[in-house]
Amino acid sequence: MREAQTKAHQGAPAAVHTAAGGAVYVAPDPEPAGARVWFFTRLGGVSEPPYDSLNVSKVVGDEPAAVEANLSVIREAVGHRPSAWVRQVAGDGVALVSEGGFAGEGDALVTPERDLCLSVAVADCVPVALVGDGGVGMVHSGWRGTLAGVSGKAARRLEARGVRAYVGPSIRGCCYEVSQELADKFAREFGDGVVSGRDLSLPDAIRVDLERAGVEVYDLGLCTGCRPDLFYSHRKQGPLTGRNLATVARVAP
Ligand SMILES: [Zn+2]
Repeated sequence: MREAQTKAHQGAPAAVHTAAGGAVYVAPDPEPAGARVWFFTRLGGVSEPPYDSLNVSKVVGDEPAAVEANLSVIREAVGHRPSAWVRQVAGDGVALVSEGGFAGEGDALVTPERDLCLSVAVADCVPVALVGDGGVGMVHSGWRGTLAGVSGKAARRLEARGVRAYVGPSIRGCCYEVSQELADKFAREFGDGVVSGRDLSLPDAIRVDLERAGVEVYDLGLCTGCRPDLFYSHRKQGPLTGRNLATVARVAP
């Protein structure tokens, strides 16, 4: 049982960067060829506590003007590329997008376009960046989406060869005790290795889901619950906390 937890922390190398404009983000190290991945931390924005400081959500009680300022800090960080987003509903909907802007309800976005950012907002839920030879994707996967297999569905929808997944900062088994019923459900769906007692590892379940879809998985191994200095955590700080943005863009190789 200890094995699952150890495995959960065997992260792929990650590096912390400060972007132009001051936003601090985590990225795979080395960065994937043909894509940029930004798992933004809570550092580098203007929001006041308890939303300090790079909160991107206007529905958690933060000052709208502060959120706008944070979004402009992020636009600078991503080189002013346009961004597409969805209204996240904890489901398994995948939006295929070709331009920036609101792309409807869903919990994943995929695109073959270059220099188009795909973004999700998270505070414990798992952001998963998908990078393939013909496109990229970004997934928001909480426990409902994970059970529904949203990451595997997004990877299949990508219709790209050699898809790699980068599992970003999220709540992990060390900080995520769930009901026995839910733990059992995950063990049945993804194998005993994804739970330890009632501690659930969403990243490990997502790894199983993605490997079934033929995807190579790199888990950055960062826990939002363990690192309040870097990340918002709904479970540890909520409900009055912010949301971190996770973004991916396909770029010229
Ligand atoms: Zn933790």
